[in-house]
Amino acid sequence: MTEGPFVFRISPSPGLHVGFTGIDAGNLAFHVSGGATAQGPGPAGSVAEARTRLEREMGVAPGRTEYLTQVHSARVVEATGSGWGARSGPAEEADALVSPTGEDPLAIMVADCLPVVFASRPRGGAELTGPTAVAHAGRRGLLDGVLEATVARLRGAGAGDATGEIEAWVGPGICGRCYEVPEEMRREGASRIPATGSTTSWGTPALDLPAGAVDVLEGLGVTVHPDDRCTFEDGHLFSHRRAPGGGRFAGVVWRTGEGAA
Ligand SMILES: [Zn+2]
Repeated sequence: MTEGPFVFRISPSPGLHVGFTGIDAGNLAFHVSGGATAQGPGPAGSVAEARTRLEREMGVAPGRTEYLTQVHSARVVEATGSGWGARSGPAEEADALVSPTGEDPLAIMVADCLPVVFASRPRGGAELTGPTAVAHAGRRGLLDGVLEATVARLRGAGAGDATGEIEAWVGPGICGRCYEVPEEMRREGASRIPATGSTTSWGTPALDLPAGAVDVLEGLGVTVHPDDRCTFEDGHLFSHRRAPGGGRFAGVVWRTGEGAA
């Protein structure tokens, strides 16, 4: 199932690609040490190398992929048209990124939180030639509406609003049998999104973020492609809870061929 740096990769429409990387792609986050544990941030050079190596695999120009500074918000921003390689400072603070043309390569970083990748059809269209997006849906972002905000932004940018005109791939994250939380946190989650209420395999309160994300997206008329890999259980993925500081993997969407950036 593993294909190079990806644990999952699909081309759902001609020239359009969706993927989730694994540990073989390396740590993609500059703010994480990437295996250096308590010694502080690892060398930035190795993150740049990992990002460039991934872009080579994607068929995207080095430095062209857009990343965010993720802050567990429900803030959505639009692609700037220039990637991480052209930035002198940190990327913009937000937790979802939309490409109105669908042509900008986008990445979202996670290690237990859910990476959600979106593609869309223009109203009545047959192919996924509309706007694309990526979103970071952890507990806070999911409950605060980052997915609703992303779908609204996609529709505002020209994605069709009929059922199924937006498709979402909910990538690997910590599952509802592993994500233990205090009872109060489970209650708060379940009162906002009932599908998130869960119990760990050892019988304590938990949150099921994947089930919550699927529920929210389906309620918005989005066609959802879930992923049953759990970051806490699957050693091919980074998990903040299992191994803090180990790194971040990414959900990515990009185009190749004519029209691609
Ligand atoms: Zn699990």
